[in-house]
Amino acid sequence: MTVSWWQRSDCQALAADYVVVGAGIVGSYAAFCLAQTGADVLLTDMREPAAGASGRNAGFLLSGLVQYYHEAVEQYGHATAREAWQLSVETRELAFSLAQQLGVPAERCGSFLLATTRREARALERASRALEADGWPVAFQRGDPWGRGFAATLHKPDDGVVHPVKLVRAIAKHSGAQLVAPNEVWAIEARPGGVRVRGSKAEVEAKGAIVALNAYAPLVCPALAGLVRPVRGQMLSTVPLPSRVFDGAGYANWGYEYFHQLPDGRFLMGGGRRRFRRQETGWEDLTTPGVQGALTQFLERYFPEVAGQPIESRWSGTMGFTPDGLPLVGRLPDVPQAVVAVGFNGHGMGLGLKVAERAVDLLLNGTSPGFLDSARFQLE
Ligand SMILES: Cc1cc2nc3c(=O)[nH]c(=O)nc-3n(C[C@H](O)[C@H](O)[C@H](O)COP(=O)(O)OP(=O)(O)OC[C@H]3O[C@@H](n4cnc5c(N)ncnc54)[C@H](O)[C@@H]3O)c2cc1C
Repeated sequence: MTVSWWQRSDCQALAADYVVVGAGIVGSYAAFCLAQTGADVLLTDMREPAAGASGRNAGFLLSGLVQYYHEAVEQYGHATAREAWQLSVETRELAFSLAQQLGVPAERCGSFLLATTRREARALERASRALEADGWPVAFQRGDPWGRGFAATLHKPDDGVVHPVKLVRAIAKHSGAQLVAPNEVWAIEARPGGVRVRGSKAEVEAKGAIVALNAYAPLVCPALAGLVRPVRGQMLSTVPLPSRVFDGAGYANWGYEYFHQLPDGRFLMGGGRRRFRRQETGWEDLTTPGVQGALTQFLERYFPEVAGQPIESRWSGTMGFTPDGLPLVGRLPDVPQAVVAVGFNGHGMGLGLKVAERAVDLLLNGTSPGFLDSARFQLE
């Protein structure tokens, strides 16, 4: 991104103890945690709170990671997989508790992982055994209790859903941080004793910064190029349906499709990008006939009573994917007082709050973020 001299000369000079860049679930909660210490905190966004992926997702508060549990154990080792799962459980509980305190709609409706093939059913059974061995409450079943043609289900009774826009906006509003938006940040630089965050409307000097830009981080922090990949996710929602078709958060086809019926009867569904992975990258905010058609095909097969219903909204959001499927927390190499918390691989509602806490702990106390440490990769 480039900025002209004219644009640079027309911005406000501000100061704070800490500045948080990006007002999604991660940035808003990081600002909340920093302000809890009594610090003067400034939260800034190029649009408004929840304008990014945090306001465009399914609202699922799922325990778990990108992979099924036994695969996570194989990839990261048992201790890390278990700790990552625990982090998702703690995030879910924190999200429910914040939603309750802030008067945000949330529902502990349980979630169902749903196999669409026999191969996936076998994987789900292995995941279930690995989860049970570690004491997580899950229930595996071959077939499905609704006779919809799923090959197997894995029920996680404690998961649920939240209204993501209301949650993020409430956290931002009650964080105690000053919100400066819209302000498109174009550079985060080191200065003696801290950081300087340069934006279209404000230039902020602070002792430290949290960078919570997720998919957009490489556009502002070149060090993250190649480590955080923008991936588009698409969704749709129907008009309110007259009857209940599904209770719970459904997560099918290795997580490529997900759906939930809201209390008012609207059916929300996302995914459809498995066959379009090459096209569904980048920052462009649009829906495509291919992916939206794949969503309809899924509905026709598993929820025929929903497939013909009028669609009220279609939208997209941009997720940040990392090479190993885990988020990144660490200092920017050229700006040591700026800590990034990015790369949620489509699970930022399920992991973001506790990851934000680790980023704040690194910034304030120098505490290692453990398995999230970005040092596992070479930041340029
Ligand atoms: C369709 C879809 C469905 C999903 N479903 C789920 C789900 O059900 N459960 C789940 O756990 N996760 C889900 N996710 C993923 C989840 O939404 C994200 O992981 C999470 O919202 C990331 O939060 P964040 O705060 O890191 O990033 P974001 O919410 O993307 O926030 C980044 C913020 O930075 C701002 N910004 C960008 N560039 C600049 C700049 N230059 N200057 C200033 N500000 C800037 C943006 O405006 C934005 O507000 C889904 C994602 C999508 C797209």
